[in-house]
Amino acid sequence: MKILLCNDDGIHAPGIAALYEAVRDLGDVRIVAPAAEQSAVGHAITLANPIKAHPVEKNGRPFGFAVGGTPADCVKLSGELLPGFRPDLVVSGINLGPNTGISVIYSGTVSAATEGLILGYPSIAVSLNTFQHPLWESASHFARLVVETVIRQGLPPDTLLNVNLPNLPPDQVRGFRLTRMGRSRFVEEFDRRTDPRGNTYFWMGGKMELLGDGEGTDVAAVEAGYVSCTPISFDLTHRTALPALGAWPMFKGA
Ligand code: MN
Repeated sequence: MKILLCNDDGIHAPGIAALYEAVRDLGDVRIVAPAAEQSAVGHAITLANPIKAHPVEKNGRPFGFAVGGTPADCVKLSGELLPGFRPDLVVSGINLGPNTGISVIYSGTVSAATEGLILGYPSIAVSLNTFQHPLWESASHFARLVVETVIRQGLPPDTLLNVNLPNLPPDQVRGFRLTRMGRSRFVEEFDRRTDPRGNTYFWMGGKMELLGDGEGTDVAAVEAGYVSCTPISFDLTHRTALPALGAWPMFKGA
């Protein structure tokens, strides 16, 4: 089993170390991850600049490649950096912070998995539902359970699994839920500040607005203490809208 790990918090983030510990004995595990934090860069790729990559060691042992680019760059570049290593599975994470609801659109963590899917590799994104006091050991335990299950069961074609873990000790996690992506999103709050030269600048923050869009969403499941597993595809076609647009005169006779 060849497993490629990536993330968007950067190769030095504790989340990818926790993921590595979770899966290291499941096969040949390699890491290609951003050299610096790339949270919320979505599916950006680097075209106008060169992309640097260098090997990184941890505790005196080779750990992986740090890439001066985005999560999607990392997965694309893995083919060059790891000749002959065709992943059986790509796992991205473990992200510090949830990737539920509309956050999925902005997520670099999910985009690394999407890039894996585009390249034809079964892919999983794993995120932890907290920004503070992460329980990495618990997260690592549940990430492993999901990865083992995906290895055993496989994933349907053109499907990545977006996993969000509650930040709870294992005995308080209530189980697993198959979910759909919710519509809840972060509502931005801009902190207006002044730099030492008197210029105004802004710092974007925000709070998750829980839209209460019902049972069965990723947000509801993880908030209720379940591990949320959402199948995601990169086909953005809104199929249920096709009949309505098909009635437009310009599409008649096509
Ligand atoms: Mn992140």
